[in-house]
Amino acid sequence: MHLKKRVLITGGAGFLGSHLCERLLAAGNEVICADNFYTGSKVNIAHLIDNPYFEVMRHDITFPLYLEVDEIYNLACPASPIHYQNDPVQTTKVNVHGAINMLGLAKRLRAKIFQASTSEVYGDPEVHPQAEEYRGRVNPIGPRACYDEGKRCAETLFFDYNRQHSLEIKVARIFNTYGPRMHMNDGRVVSNFIVSALKGEPITIYGDGSQTRSFCYVDEMVDGFIRLMETPSEITGPINLGNPGEFTILELAETVISMTNSSSSIIFKDLPQDDPQKRKPDITKAREILGWNPAINLEQGITKTIEYFDGILSKDK
Ligand code: NAD
Ligand code: UDP
Repeated sequence: MHLKKRVLITGGAGFLGSHLCERLLAAGNEVICADNFYTGSKVNIAHLIDNPYFEVMRHDITFPLYLEVDEIYNLACPASPIHYQNDPVQTTKVNVHGAINMLGLAKRLRAKIFQASTSEVYGDPEVHPQAEEYRGRVNPIGPRACYDEGKRCAETLFFDYNRQHSLEIKVARIFNTYGPRMHMNDGRVVSNFIVSALKGEPITIYGDGSQTRSFCYVDEMVDGFIRLMETPSEITGPINLGNPGEFTILELAETVISMTNSSSSIIFKDLPQDDPQKRKPDITKAREILGWNPAINLEQGITKTIEYFDGILSKDK
């Protein structure tokens, strides 16, 4: 018989967290979602509420949390630059105090703990593609620092708890991920472009659009999380998770316009400070250790994401 695990997901009402709640419940686990609804929404988890094995609690992880679980996925943190820069001090707090609180909880329970780290720990990289050994180029005093340095400090805390307290840790460095349940006003590039294209409004590119990103479809990313959590205890990460297909932001805009048959024009605005020029994961480790190899290409993933936003926008009409 499959024994139910009780799993805590912080940030479980957000984009990635809600998909993870769904997947872990479907696999027969009990899930507790802790979220302060800063960027997440009850709508993302409304379809799970009637499941007797699902529990939602309004909680800000910068404050301690006492409950009993077997595993913790720590995802709480706004991920979009406009949202994490809106209250940068809180962003550092959620990354640092939040990590300390969740690590303390894991230590008391001797529970395994997963950290949603980020490709932003590499900053604006001089190495391409980025492998886990690369130490990054982050501006510690720029507008992205609250997030980048916050996530770097969280990694430090995870590895110190591992060395000092023998805690079982799993650190994933997540590259840009997209798909259904991104917030309409999330501000990240894929949702912004699709929503503008569907409304026939101009698509805004920051800079000349030559900067690159690699985009992973949400279902495959969540599969990577679970595979990493299930590895033997000596596997700690950090491990890159992302789709290595690399696109310029201009290519992304053109793809979205053509796939939506949109009449949207493209307008160019100044590139924000410290916006990384290039980003592409080296996923050799994820392939070898997790047997994880994302196969959904940009057009396939964008098709599903367009369907999702189209559904929401047609309801609003
Ligand atoms: P999201 O903004 O949709 O979700 C974050 C969730 O955390 C939201 O539900 C929000 O309300 C919640 N939250 C924020 N502060 C909190 C606090 N103090 N206490 C409790 N809950 C809080 O973002 P996402 O894309 O789902 O990202 C999830 C995690 O993955 C984040 O840690 C993010 O840094 C990381 N990540 C995401 C991506 C990506 O492309 N989606 C890339 C790299 C890293
Ligand atoms: N971007 C853009 N238009 C938008 C939103 C973002 O040109 O409406 C650019 C942004 O400047 C960056 C890239 O798209 O170069 C990815 O931005 P996003 O906020 O999605 O993620 P991140 O910069 O954190 O990778």
